[in-house]
Amino acid sequence: MALRVQKYGGTSVADIDRINNVAGRVIKAHESGDQIVVVLSAMAGVTDGLISLANQASPRPDKRELDVLLATGEQTTAALLAMILKFRGYKAKSFLGFQAGILTDQTSGKARILDIECKKIQDAIQKGNIIVVAGFQGADANGDITTLGRGGSDTSAVAIASALKADVCEIFTDVDGVYTTDPRICEKARKIKRISYEEMLEMAILGAKVLQIRSVEFAKKYNVPVHVRSSFNEEEGTMVVNESSDMESVVVSGVTCDMNEARITLKKVPDQPGISAKIFTPLANAEIMVDMIIQNTRSGGETDLTFTVTKDDFERAKEISERVAKEVGADEVLTKKEIAKVSVIGLGMKSHSGVAATMFQALASENINIRLISTSEIRISCVILAKYAELAVRTLHAAFNLDKERQ
Ligand code: ADP
Ligand code: ASP
Ligand code: MG
Repeated sequence: MALRVQKYGGTSVADIDRINNVAGRVIKAHESGDQIVVVLSAMAGVTDGLISLANQASPRPDKRELDVLLATGEQTTAALLAMILKFRGYKAKSFLGFQAGILTDQTSGKARILDIECKKIQDAIQKGNIIVVAGFQGADANGDITTLGRGGSDTSAVAIASALKADVCEIFTDVDGVYTTDPRICEKARKIKRISYEEMLEMAILGAKVLQIRSVEFAKKYNVPVHVRSSFNEEEGTMVVNESSDMESVVVSGVTCDMNEARITLKKVPDQPGISAKIFTPLANAEIMVDMIIQNTRSGGETDLTFTVTKDDFERAKEISERVAKEVGADEVLTKKEIAKVSVIGLGMKSHSGVAATMFQALASENINIRLISTSEIRISCVILAKYAELAVRTLHAAFNLDKERQ
């Protein structure tokens, strides 16, 4: 008998028909003799709708109350699925995050899971129940409701799988698995059978929203086998697993695109020691994460300093940059929100050269200008104008032979 954690995302529970479909799948798994813990998202669009209501209630919704509100999306689906399972004659029990023992830190809106006290769930499993847990939420040490950030039900599922030492964590979604790039952008995208935690983590960080970043960090740290698959068919999906030697033979395994960043440039900054610290310390103090940083030296003891932040942090980062620009005597602050970061990712880059050159040539062949570049051991990212994003993804997908079946 295996213990399986199954997570169903927003489109998979979008209405009662689909929740009934989920119930059917859960019952089938239960009937096969496995113990099943289901983790659910809110119905598609519900979290967005709740955020919009909160913004109508207050221009700056109180963070504690916002978490209380957002958690209701998952509360609804968990209760509905448990009701359906019971109606169909099965023993089932729903749990909100705090009832499932999910303890988080106090960062409202993007809390981290610190611990899971899963005795209640274990007892309910032993009594033969199908367990249904509301994803995306927990409670902090004061008992206040917290949420885990957008896409957070993935992390709830992996964390619960880890705490229960489940045999597998199945992420059921609206695609058949993890693809070489977003199948909505590139019709030639192909399903990857097995991908390493490391590559999956880079893909998530760089914009492939199929798994939340923290869920992959968690899976990697605690060695949770994750199976990403469709909730609408029975096909095998993608296994996210530890790196194996054969994986390094693939130079590039995926292409991603992130439209969620914006660019800020401080023009003609005095080229002196300590200036970068003066610019980036206030941003850090405001808890703004800076991603790419580039400094171009001009003649005459001045430089241009460019960096990117997420669009959510853009307005605050711009305000701070304008203030600091005056203090340090920079010329002006220029900004651009319509940018995209396209990236290629692959373990094989560790041992192959020429990947950057191929990437730059491919973009050049379509006359796409590269504004910023950054690299790590297993990825290369280029910032380009947003209007070229989809073309760039398709071009890179072809340039690295991802359109073709992997041998
Ligand atoms: P869920 O609601 O089930 O959590 P998400 O919308 O969060 O689903 O994630 C699934 C979506 O991720 C897909 O519909 C797909 O468009 C997108 N996606 C982006 N990049 C990839 C990729 N490389 N492989 C698969 N899906 C991807
Ligand atoms: N409902 C939340 C969201 O839309 C969490 C999730 O779906 O994983 O972000
Ligand atoms: Mg998701």
